[in-house]
Amino acid sequence: MIEQSFSQKPWLNDIAGQLGQLLEQQRLPHGILFHGHPGSGTRDIGYWLSRQLLCTENGLWGPACGRCKSCSLLRAGNHPDLVMIESDKAHIGVDSVRKATRFLVNKAQLGQAKVVIIEQAEQMTEAAANALLKTLEEPTPFSFLFLISHDSDRLLPTIQSRCTRFDIRPPIGQGLKQSLGNSGLIDDYSNMSHLAQLQDADIEAEFVDFESLLTQWLQNSSDSEALALQLIEQPLALSWLTQHLTSAMRSSYRWHGIRKSPVIDALSQFEPQQLHTSIQLINTINQQLKQLPQANKKFMIESLVIDLVALIGNNAEKRPH
Ligand SMILES: [Zn+2]
Repeated sequence: MIEQSFSQKPWLNDIAGQLGQLLEQQRLPHGILFHGHPGSGTRDIGYWLSRQLLCTENGLWGPACGRCKSCSLLRAGNHPDLVMIESDKAHIGVDSVRKATRFLVNKAQLGQAKVVIIEQAEQMTEAAANALLKTLEEPTPFSFLFLISHDSDRLLPTIQSRCTRFDIRPPIGQGLKQSLGNSGLIDDYSNMSHLAQLQDADIEAEFVDFESLLTQWLQNSSDSEALALQLIEQPLALSWLTQHLTSAMRSSYRWHGIRKSPVIDALSQFEPQQLHTSIQLINTINQQLKQLPQANKKFMIESLVIDLVALIGNNAEKRPH
């Protein structure tokens, strides 16, 4: 029986179960593509599967013990029979792929299996992808290649067709609510972008802090500078602001199942059009921040807050004199 322990991402248990069966039947494919949004657990499941294969305690196909030398080395992040390729800057070049394919030809050092994990596989250049094809077509014994991708449409079709594909789809709304338990932060519209604050206690605390700061700002008991500072310093704050604005819009259209909170009450006093324009402003800023890595984030967010004051700020806000 394969140990299954995805308490933070319980939807992975199903896939782990399927992979566990393939292991027990010694039918695990040589090339696997794990596809899903960032945060969905593609990396977790690829790493989990590597652990099962690399553990030397229960044979190649047996479950990981968590105690042997192989398991400890893996935990420490320096297992000699595992190569992780991550995208540097903008792409994965042919050199790193060649290095990985050479590694797969050699004998394993600790047990039998050798594993290569390629993260953000869609970042492979065409030359890199072509270098990988041969390994996928003529695998050496006991070698395994796991591709992780958030955007598999950008993978060469020849690569896709030679991998067994597993799509990781976390539940949304009610389903997510059920699988994560009834956190006070979750409502019928919760989805992937809410996961961080639902799964990490520190981020949850910051989410709650941001929510109360935003409420105070809307009630005019906190100034715009404090809001701007939070939006600049907390990387998730812009998406949290969008979440609240979206919930308030749903609330003003009387959708059901929205989480009740003071911030939604405070936002619901505005016209849906004002909320909508605010969301659009944030989306524009987000796009600019993504496309222009050198963009002056501080300046852009300060301008955003000034625009927001005009849209949804409290009219009574004191003007500088
Ligand atoms: Zn072990």
